[in-house]
Amino acid sequence: MLKDIRSLSYDELSKEILDLGFPKFRINQIFSWVHEKCVSSFDEMTNISKDMRAKLSEHFIFNNCQINTKLVSKIDDTVKYLFQFSDGEYVESVVMKYKYGYSICISTQVGCKMGCTFCASAIGGFVRQLSVGEMLTEVYTAQKDLNIKINHMVLMGTGEPLDNYDNVMKMLELITDEKGQNMSMRHISLSTCGVVPKIYDLAEKKLGLTLSVSLHAPNNTIRSKSMPINHKYDIDELLKACKYYTDTTSRRISFEYAMIQGFNDSDDCALELAKRLKGILCHVNLIPVNNVRETDYIKSTVERQKRFIDILSSRGITATVRRTLGSDINASCGQLRASKKNK
Ligand code: SAH
Repeated sequence: MLKDIRSLSYDELSKEILDLGFPKFRINQIFSWVHEKCVSSFDEMTNISKDMRAKLSEHFIFNNCQINTKLVSKIDDTVKYLFQFSDGEYVESVVMKYKYGYSICISTQVGCKMGCTFCASAIGGFVRQLSVGEMLTEVYTAQKDLNIKINHMVLMGTGEPLDNYDNVMKMLELITDEKGQNMSMRHISLSTCGVVPKIYDLAEKKLGLTLSVSLHAPNNTIRSKSMPINHKYDIDELLKACKYYTDTTSRRISFEYAMIQGFNDSDDCALELAKRLKGILCHVNLIPVNNVRETDYIKSTVERQKRFIDILSSRGITATVRRTLGSDINASCGQLRASKKNK
């Protein structure tokens, strides 16, 4: 099978190009076509001769995706894509407009193994990993389609990024390469449900990205009910890893907490959470839960959210409620793909 040219690191591409007998200066030209100008075929590489392009296409492919569905929010210009890959599988990405520019939420796997009870991405289970090139294609395709420059990225779509660790790390290396998109690591957030050993690995890399941890509960009893990963790595192990992460990187962790009425939103929950997070450099991001499955989960009231924030704040933990974007197009990841599968 031919290699997807987008999946090659700079060093791998360099070696391949030299092995083909091309002069050294071609490496940066080709890298720039792929990762800076984001072309989707060899024919677009206009400063590369026809013969060379033919040779390249004998050795590599562009594993492109097609835009199957595109929904544009009438409220806030959020755009949601359902992309289809060459093997017919779908993933979702969402582009959001902020004061500081455009941000994309990408998927890192087709489906997900983690099985969180509130999450649409868990429906249908895990299908396969996304390759490095496929994750990059989500960004490049959206960017070209909208004719914009995307300068922020969150790994919060379908999938568990730390369960596709090597590909995600390579993708981050490529998207931050100054010869390509040159996205700043500071503009990237990686969200995990708590794959503890990989949090330690990530800490050692000292990447400068923001680590988001999907906590969603103040204790093991509640967390184990909604997040199966908690049976493997419980909340104490997870928070120990988080503490290690912040101590090693000096980067603040963002704890995600989806507020579910009567499940994890009581005053006692807030008090317990504040106690547990004490001493960890962090911020709590409250998300009013989206009802996406046949569960009876209901969003907490605005009063509850405020009360929760007050309790955390009074104990020195900063917390905010995440802004909702694209509510008219069901912009939360996983829902579009799930509806496609049910047809
Ligand atoms: N697997 C990673 C990233 C994907 S989920 C993780 O678990 O962090 C991205 C975020 O959306 C996570 O914080 C997840 O818990 C949250 N999420 C999933 N379903 C949700 C729902 N129905 N309402 C609110 N947040 C949800």
